[in-house]
Amino acid sequence: MRALEKILVEKGYVETAALDRIIESYETKVGPHIGARVIAKAWSDPSFRRSLLEDATKAVSTLAEVGRVGEHLVAVENTPQLHNMVVCTLCSCYPWDVLGLPPVWYKSFAYRSRVVKEPRAVLADFGVVLPASTEIRVWDSTAETRFLVVPMRPAGTDGWNETKLASLVTRDCMIGTGLPKNPGEVA
Ligand code: FE
Repeated sequence: MRALEKILVEKGYVETAALDRIIESYETKVGPHIGARVIAKAWSDPSFRRSLLEDATKAVSTLAEVGRVGEHLVAVENTPQLHNMVVCTLCSCYPWDVLGLPPVWYKSFAYRSRVVKEPRAVLADFGVVLPASTEIRVWDSTAETRFLVVPMRPAGTDGWNETKLASLVTRDCMIGTGLPKNPGEVA
């Protein structure tokens, strides 16, 4: 990657400063804050939740502060009966528009190969143990289609506004390798 970057900079195709700005923007401005806002809104606004599950690209684009989502985004909803996890078995496709930069493990061969075969064991490695009765479904991302997990709203958050709800939404819970924080974990 560094070699490629060096050549592109030397040939004048890209500027180091511009690259740094793009990376910084994805790290600090985009994600996973945008995803967290989307989930918080889905938790508190039933009609937005319906639109999100129907057409996530369209629904997310209606949030003024988000803008257009570049790729086809599909939102998948967790329930007590079903837990969703996202992977890209081929490479590292990831919903950058809503989650920012992918975590390093997301691109690892270990995660990509194992999550498909033994999702429950991988989940346990992340510290998440679900009832045996909960089905786990793994979604394989592609260059065209990216997935966003809509976790279940934590109990004890009645009356919370969207900003406060968003503080419970972690990056990993939108990939499906984690759960939202408990209300007691945030101030
Ligand atoms: Fe990929």
